[in-house]
Amino acid sequence: MIETEKKRIFLYNTRTRSKEPFVSQGDCVSLYTCGPTVYNFAHIGNLRTFLFEDILKRTLLFNGLKVKHVMNITDVGHLVSDADTGDDKMETGAVREGKTVWDIAAFYTQAVMADFKKLNFIPADIYCKATDHIAEQINLIKTLEDKGYAYIIDDGVYFDTSKFSRYADFARLRIDELEAGARVEMVKGKRQVTDFALWKFSPKDKQRQMEWESPWGKGFPGWHIECSAMAMKHLGETPDIHCGGIDHIPVHHTNEIAQSEAATGKPFANFWLHGEFLVLEKEKMAKSGGNFIILKTLEERGIGPFVYRFFCLSAHYRAPLAFSWEAIQNAQQGYNSLVSKISELRNNPGLGFPTDVQPYEVEFQREINDDLNMPRAIAVLWKVLRSDALQNSQKLALAESFDRVFGLGLGQVSGTFVSDIPAELLQLLNERNQARKAKDWPLSDCLRDTILEKGYKIIDTATGAKLEKIT
Ligand code: AMP
Ligand code: ZN
Repeated sequence: MIETEKKRIFLYNTRTRSKEPFVSQGDCVSLYTCGPTVYNFAHIGNLRTFLFEDILKRTLLFNGLKVKHVMNITDVGHLVSDADTGDDKMETGAVREGKTVWDIAAFYTQAVMADFKKLNFIPADIYCKATDHIAEQINLIKTLEDKGYAYIIDDGVYFDTSKFSRYADFARLRIDELEAGARVEMVKGKRQVTDFALWKFSPKDKQRQMEWESPWGKGFPGWHIECSAMAMKHLGETPDIHCGGIDHIPVHHTNEIAQSEAATGKPFANFWLHGEFLVLEKEKMAKSGGNFIILKTLEERGIGPFVYRFFCLSAHYRAPLAFSWEAIQNAQQGYNSLVSKISELRNNPGLGFPTDVQPYEVEFQREINDDLNMPRAIAVLWKVLRSDALQNSQKLALAESFDRVFGLGLGQVSGTFVSDIPAELLQLLNERNQARKAKDWPLSDCLRDTILEKGYKIIDTATGAKLEKIT
């Protein structure tokens, strides 16, 4: 293994429940992120998870690593219940809208891609659809069958979790509790409550829109098998990193690990990272019910995608984030201040005195490499922007460099809507700030008087000194 050069990156690995120094197996990090199920718009909770994954990728790139990123598009087999019962979410979407499943998949895939673009995500290298990888999924199921991990019942081909002794380890599952709680919903013939479908047979009484021939009979793949088959096809048997939301830990990723590691005998991903949920009034956000907020809902209220991005960066990805209209409006104000500060700097790049920027760069990199600590990285950005010790052009360069990770579009902020305070005055203010820092009080007072003579007063605020025109 090649340890990442220069600065070490620490990531919290769900498998070990600890922060570990990140090491990749080669010079290109292989990253698999579980993607959207395209039966409806992505809600802002889903987007929070994808955003954390974008930040992860940007952090790896910032550290000089190459990344090969694969994201799947689930367009078949994700059932309404995690217990392999209920309808396929895609088919329910089709009924709801009176369209074909294929049209639903195409429409919502295009919609989620538009959201990704608006949120300034770096596109994945490969977006792969479950329905384009049926043969790979069938082959993987055949391997599991040959190795004795699969059994066939009326409902389909199932993975026998009792044959995989480490099944409960990843999610620290208490199987006895699951057994006590879930019998009612269990598919008839399933041997253990934790067994899961690899291949489901088409119902005998109803024609499915999506179904394929297989060695076991006509049907469709179970949800989990798609990620194992596609990750292995595009990234090899052990990708460096595999991500998703925390709800994936006990079922989806537990099952992916069982079937993949049973098939290959190798670890399925070295690092497992999970994003905490966006919550709404103490509930999780779901794609059904009144708490279904999408990017467009925000835009209709005048809240742009960069503001949502900024809002998400205010919390660590492993902490729940509570959404409320008040909280997002606060984020809007925070983002506006950031943009107007950048704009002000851009209008007066020569102001201030050049100094060594390295301590700021080091601090920033330390924060992002500490398990993607965005709230602290944002604090470093503010420290730079408010510093008395840097020239404006240096502040701008640092902000643009940090924005390679934040992705807040700071590089595109123009100098057009800045204050109308003349550059000469801003320069005087800057000099007065320097004088105060050097505790040269006479000079500081003298500069304050000069500024007053020119018709401006100095207002000292928590975020630094500002000028206001005397009217
Ligand atoms: P889905 O489209 O349902 O397959 O989910 C896409 C991603 O969103 C998965 O990684 C989920 O774990 C994640 N997710 C679902 N609900 C939330 C939520 N409320 N907050 C954050 N992530 C979520
Ligand atoms: Zn997955």
